[in-house]
Amino acid sequence: MVIIMKKDANAEDIERIKRRIENLGCKVHMSQGESCCILGVVGDTSRIDTGVFEVEDCVERAMRIQSPYKRASRFFKPTDTVVNVKGKLIGGNKLTVIAGPCSVESEEQLLTIAKAVKKSGATFLRGGAYKPRTSPYSFQGLKEEGLKLLKKASDITGLPVVTEIMAAHQIESALPYVDIIQIGARNMQNFDLLREVGKTDKPILLKRGLSATIEELLMSAEYIMSEGNENVILCERGIRTFETYTRNTLDLSAVLVIKKLSHLPVIVDPSHASGKWWMVEPLSKAALAVGADGIAVEVHHDPINALSDGEQSIKPDKFNHLMESIKQMSGFLNKEFQE
Ligand code: PEP
Ligand code: MN
Repeated sequence: MVIIMKKDANAEDIERIKRRIENLGCKVHMSQGESCCILGVVGDTSRIDTGVFEVEDCVERAMRIQSPYKRASRFFKPTDTVVNVKGKLIGGNKLTVIAGPCSVESEEQLLTIAKAVKKSGATFLRGGAYKPRTSPYSFQGLKEEGLKLLKKASDITGLPVVTEIMAAHQIESALPYVDIIQIGARNMQNFDLLREVGKTDKPILLKRGLSATIEELLMSAEYIMSEGNENVILCERGIRTFETYTRNTLDLSAVLVIKKLSHLPVIVDPSHASGKWWMVEPLSKAALAVGADGIAVEVHHDPINALSDGEQSIKPDKFNHLMESIKQMSGFLNKEFQE
C-alpha cells in the first residue's frame, strides 16, 4: 500500500501518519519528492483498509499495490492449482465437462440424462436439488430426495456429482451425496455460507455473482480458502449488462483476467450466460479457445417440458455433437480430454 500525502502536508502530519502505520504492525518507506511525500507501507497490509488513511485531511490518496486476496492470488502461488475429484483433474492441462439437467426432476429424467451425457464422455454430472428461483412459486427442487437421486445416478454412471447448496444448514446432510459443492451466482457473496463450505473437504465450484467484479469473485474464493479449503474452481456464468437479448452477457475476457490474477481453475457456463440452447456450442468452443479449463452445460432430453431452464438446455444429440467438437479441439489446445 502507498499513501500519497497532500502537497501542503507538514512534517507533523507525516510523523502522525508514520506512527499510525507502525501501530498497525507495518514499516514505513518514505520517498520525498519535489512536490509531495509518498509513504510506502511495508508488511502485511491485507487487514488494513485504505479508508483508515483517506479519512485524514493531510492524505491525498491511499492505494493498494498488491491484491486484497492472498491465497487465491497467482502472486502468492505462481503454479496452476489442479483440483482432484475422485481421480478426475480440473485445471492444468485437463479439459473438464460438467453436464446434466438444470434441476433434478425425477429418477427417470435424471437417469436418462445422466446415461446420455456419460455415453458422450462428460466428466461430471450436474443437477440442482436446491434451486434458487427468482419466483417463490416456481419449482424449488426436490431437495434431499434430489440429492439421493444424484447419488444413484452417480453410482450407475460412475460420474461424480456437482450440485448447489444454498444454505449452511444443508451442508451436513448433503455431504454424503455430493462430490463438488456448487455455490450459485446469487450466493457468491453469502459470506457465512462461503466460510462454512470452506470448512468442508469437498471441492467448491464458485459461480460469479450476477453483478460481481472479478476482484469480488476472487475475494469470495478467498473466504473459502481462508477456512482451509484450497480446492476452489471458479465459474464465469455471464453477468448483468444493458443487453436484453441474451439472459446475461458472457464475459470471456474474465477467463483471461482470472488466469492472470489467480492460480485457480476456471470453467465457463454458456447455458446460464446466454439463456439460449443454440448458443451453447459456439460459446463453449469460444470459452475453451480463450483458455477455460472446462465448461458446465445444461442438458435435457425433453427441454419443452423441463421444470427449469428448458430454453437453454441442449438435447443429448446436440451434447454429443458438442463433445465431438471439444475432443477435436483438445489437440490443438494442447489439453487432455478426460472422461
Ligand atoms: C445453476 O447452475 O443451476 C444455477 C442456478 O446457476 P447460477 O447460479 O449461475 O444462476
Ligand atoms: Mn439452470
